[in-house]
Amino acid sequence: MTIISINPATNEELETYTALSKDDVVDAIGKSHHAYQSWRKTSFDERKKALLKFAELLRKDADEFARTITLDMGKRISESQYEIEYCASIAEYYANGAEKFLADQPMKDVDADAYLHYEPLGVLMGVMPWNFPFYQVIRFATPNIMAGNTVMVKHANNVPQCAEAIAELFSQCGLPDGVYTNLFIPTDFVEDIVSDARVQGVSLTGSEKAGAAVAALAGKNLKRSVLELGGNDPFIVLEDADLEKTVELAVKGRMVNAGQSCVASKRFIVVAEVADKFLSAFKEQMSQLKMGNPLDEETTLSPLSTEEAAVKLQKQVQGTINAGATVVLGGDRPDRQGAYFNPTILSDITPDMPTFDQELFGPVASVYVVKDEAEAIELANNSSYGLGGSIYTQDIERGRRVAEQIETGMVFINQPTKSQAELPFGGIKNSGYGRELSHLGILEFVNKKIIHLG
Ligand code: NDP
Repeated sequence: MTIISINPATNEELETYTALSKDDVVDAIGKSHHAYQSWRKTSFDERKKALLKFAELLRKDADEFARTITLDMGKRISESQYEIEYCASIAEYYANGAEKFLADQPMKDVDADAYLHYEPLGVLMGVMPWNFPFYQVIRFATPNIMAGNTVMVKHANNVPQCAEAIAELFSQCGLPDGVYTNLFIPTDFVEDIVSDARVQGVSLTGSEKAGAAVAALAGKNLKRSVLELGGNDPFIVLEDADLEKTVELAVKGRMVNAGQSCVASKRFIVVAEVADKFLSAFKEQMSQLKMGNPLDEETTLSPLSTEEAAVKLQKQVQGTINAGATVVLGGDRPDRQGAYFNPTILSDITPDMPTFDQELFGPVASVYVVKDEAEAIELANNSSYGLGGSIYTQDIERGRRVAEQIETGMVFINQPTKSQAELPFGGIKNSGYGRELSHLGILEFVNKKIIHLG
């Protein structure tokens, strides 16, 4: 099997990689397990030194890495540059914070002289997606490496140049061989890896379908798992919102990474009193997006990650239109080469339509008009997903009251949901389980051992 990097802006093939054989994978697990035996005994200072070097190397060649992201999966170059800088700061956050996050915890207010002691678990497997090809891997790898685990990653097959660049960085920063391993493998090899007794856990970011498959494997083999899956985030506009700012944030929230983010704002739920004004300003700003080469700084709308992704989105959008939704803007693909999709706004979507409860991964906004705050909350919660969401109001107390009623893992007031190293990231319902980032992210794959002093 070969793994090919295809530039989605031109559909040109850029690089080809040969996948590993099953025997190669068995060797790789052995190497990772061997590396774990000594890595687990290293000091926090030693681990910290390697990850600070990793951050430094990322920053040193940031432009080159950003270009690699853009060529592999089409992200706008300024967003790729931001991703690299953010990854360097995540590596620093865990390099500097791990010792504190994993310090022994005395058990207070209990009738026992005992404390919690954190220890690494062993080899971990990461199955990662293409939408933030550096960030997703670094968010998984850096806390776990700081905790003393070793990690193996099967990256999405459409971002092999990124996968290779990340592996080289981990090797150049001074990590011993086997602490970080990139696996160019077909999807079905994941089963053998998760089943291997030396592998202690698996983390997947991606679709519900992939998440369910990996969770089933983890369950069957009694392995720990963390799943960060899709989202259908509500963006709730109440009648007292600052509309001008809210519309700008609506475009920003929907269009991050050309709409291909799990926490992109996807369902715009607007109270009737301000709906006409919101919709006309939103349409105006969405229609001004400038489609073009993602390497060009002037471009504000890049292609999707692959031709297949654009075809899938077209099918979903057309299905919704056929079922009776109104096209406010776009609805189709432009007549140009590459995996592009026109900025699209759909309204009059009802729960019986096929895409009502699906994640639309691209520049497509669904707008819903509701009577009032109560109806907005009800609609926001009428979803099988529960990842993020945001609420727009000039009354922060009101925002807080609404936020507490939204069934998701993250709710932001007056800004779209975003990722920040210090804040827990993750969802409920079909959006997955477990938390990444923050002090919680480093506690997912450690043994929380109780030591009783007798
Ligand atoms: P997938 O979930 O298929 O891919 C994510 C990762 O999972 C890839 O590494 C993929 O490998 C791997 N994978 C897929 N199926 C399995 C399986 N059965 N067992 C083990 N690993 C598996 O996402 P797609 O790229 O196909 O995108 C489809 C949809 O998923 C999007 O339209 C979007 O809705 C959602 N998605 C959500 C993301 C998020 O951030 N939450 C990220 C990406 C997608 P391979 O590349 O080899 O298929």
